[in-house]
Formats: sequence, structure tokens, C-alpha cells
Amino acid sequence: MFELTGQTALVTGGAKGIGKGIAQTLARAGARVVIADIDVEQGEATARELNGHFVRCDVTSQADCRAAVAEAVRQGGTLEILCSNTGIFPQARLDDMTEADWDQVQNINLKGMFLMVQAALEPMRAQRYGRIVITSSITGPITGFPGWSHYGASKAGQLGFMRSAALEVANQGITINAVMPGNILTEGLADQGETYLNQMRAAIPTHTLGEPEDIGHAACFLASPEARFITGQQIIVDGGQILPESPEA
Ligand code: NAD
Repeated sequence: MFELTGQTALVTGGAKGIGKGIAQTLARAGARVVIADIDVEQGEATARELNGHFVRCDVTSQADCRAAVAEAVRQGGTLEILCSNTGIFPQARLDDMTEADWDQVQNINLKGMFLMVQAALEPMRAQRYGRIVITSSITGPITGFPGWSHYGASKAGQLGFMRSAALEVANQGITINAVMPGNILTEGLADQGETYLNQMRAAIPTHTLGEPEDIGHAACFLASPEARFITGQQIIVDGGQILPESPEA
């Protein structure tokens, strides 16, 4: 377990699911956690559970992102860690995907990440220290899934953003990395239906879906001071799902 006592961590989409798993892991390592989410009831409950704070924030709003960062700095005096985790994954096949479907996914997943990272960089640059961890996905950068072309584009786009952004701040004590979850059992994933969940269990070599804290542990490592020489990289956490199987000898 990494030691984060005295550090402040802002986790977007942290009310539930993977974001909550990340927040729990960071809190256990000693960080003061600030949850930023649009779900006020769930967000406040999670913040209470973790002895942290909640700020209502729609990541598609620049004003909300700046206010969330200001609140985190107000609570902790500094902001060491940003976990940009918010994301949606509604399914729409190309034959009936609307422009609004496309825009909604890019706005929340891609633009929301950009706005939040840009806001967090201000205090991080001033203190010449920061750890930014983006929740991407295996879907898009590595695999595909019918109905998720807009989602895959946003998740691959996050990695493209990360690599260039990481270079811009590398000499300022700030790292930017990503975790790439496979299938992690959250409300968002459960919404895809039991058939999908069973297909995924069968496709994962461990035959289990991941837990939110599996992503939390990887994020916690990348968010730690010890990960200082790692930037612009991604860690896949998928139970081996993307490994091609060799034919048996
Ligand atoms: P989830 O739907 O369970 O939780 C998402 C959270 O984001 C919710 O608390 C929701 O209120 C919040 N949110 C939604 N729109 C928001 C907005 N505009 N502003 C602020 N908060 C907002 O989802 P999850 O499964 O925990 O996924 C979290 C992240 O992990 C996403 O980026 C997703 O793409 C990624 N991911 C998930 C899986 C998986 O299997 N669950 C796999 C790969 C990647």
C-alpha cells in the first residue's frame, strides 16, 4: 500500500462504480478525498463513508471543473492527485446513432477530461507536483464492441490527449497516466444486461468480472510519489481479456 497521508485527491465520477473504488483505495492510503459528481445524493453518501468531501460538478462545464478544483484546494490546501474517471457508455449502433448520441459521449468522456485536467494543472504547476490518472478503457484503444464506436473513439482519444499533455508538464513534477479497465462490475456495466455480463465472464480468462477496487489499486500506484518516473503510460487491468491465446502445443 502506498502512503498518501496529507495529500488531497479529487476523483471525478467518484460517487459510485470505478470512481468510488478509486476513492476508497486512495482514502485507505491516507489521502483526503474530494468526490466530484453530478449525483448529489450518492456523492454525498460516498464522501461521508470515506470521511471526505463532495462537490457537485458536471464535468462538461468549465465553471464546475474550476469550482471543483478550488473546493479541493480549499479543503486540503493543495491538490496532489486528480483521478479523471467520469465516463458514460450508452450503446448505439451506427445505423441509428444520432449526432446528439455522439456529442454527449464526446462531451462527457473527452471534453470533460480535458476541462478537469486543465483546471487541476493550475495548482499542480504552482506547487510543482501532481499526479493525474485518467480512466480510459480497453474498448477503443485495443478492442472494439458493436454499439460502442462513439465510446471507443472517446477512450482512444483520451490516450492521445494524455501522451501530449504528459510531455507538456513532464518538467514540472507532474505525471499524467491512464488505467485501462476491462469489464468491471459497476452499475454502468450492469445496465448492459445479463447476456452481456455472461458473455464477458466467458471471455475473461479468470472467468470473473473485475471489482472497482481492482482499478483503484492500479490508480493508487500511479497516483503515488513512487511512480514519479512513469508518465504518458497506461496500465491494462482486465483479467487477461485482451491476451491472444496461443494454440495448445
Ligand atoms: P458508472 O456509470 O457506474 O459511474 C459513473 C459515475 O460518473 C456516476 O457516479 C455518474 O453520476 C458520474 N457522471 C456521469 N456523468 C457525469 C458528468 N457529466 N459529470 C460528473 N459526473 C458524471 O460507471 P463506471 O462503470 O464506474 O465507469 C467509470 C469510468 O470507467 C468511465 O470512464 C468508464 O468509461 C470507465 N470504464 C468502465 C468499465 C466497466 O467495465 N465498468 C470498463 C472500462 C472503462
